[in-house]
Amino acid sequence: MAQRLALFDLDNTLVDLDEAFRLWAGEFADQHSLTDEAVDWLIALDRAGHPHREVFFSKVREHFSLSSSVDELWSRYRRRMPYLVRCRPETLDGLARLRASGWKVAIITNGTADNQRGKIQQTGLAAAVDAYALSGVEGIRKPDVGLFEIAARRCGTTLADGGWMVGDHLVADVGGGRSAGLRTIWIDRGTWPEHDQTADHVVTDVLQAMEILLQHR
Ligand SMILES: [Mg+2]
Repeated sequence: MAQRLALFDLDNTLVDLDEAFRLWAGEFADQHSLTDEAVDWLIALDRAGHPHREVFFSKVREHFSLSSSVDELWSRYRRRMPYLVRCRPETLDGLARLRASGWKVAIITNGTADNQRGKIQQTGLAAAVDAYALSGVEGIRKPDVGLFEIAARRCGTTLADGGWMVGDHLVADVGGGRSAGLRTIWIDRGTWPEHDQTADHVVTDVLQAMEILLQHR
């Protein structure tokens, strides 16, 4: 039986990044006197798979003929997002229940250090987990096993004793988790249509993933 180690992805797993992004897009449009169509355009660009913000903001800058540099736009985004992201109380409760049942719990996330750390702190997640590992700090990204190892070590254990990975990304989270020797729970948000997947469990919400873990105690 695998040890009680559960690693969770952050964005669109523990927090609803899409919702925060919609709020940000509305604010951004107001600040730059853009129309409602501009908000739709920003959301569509995000959905179209431009997660790398440098690319995203160079397209935004060009499209709206903005005078600010890409660096300025991106850094304002990173400063603002931690205040727009929420973690539901039920999710924080679920983490507390896992830990009360003897689980070690960590967050493992790809992204810039300031943005990801800010989100973890502002949402209360920093106090709700045993550890976290941020790619922007460690210089390794999921699906690289190294980031999983760091998270396990900070929980006082190693990947050799097994555990679980929960996330919404089939490559970074499910593929990475499997490579790390972990069992996996995929949160299917409907954004990977017709994609083959190999997770041990598939759910639509992180709370369901937590229930599965609690049943394995
Ligand atoms: Mg994610």
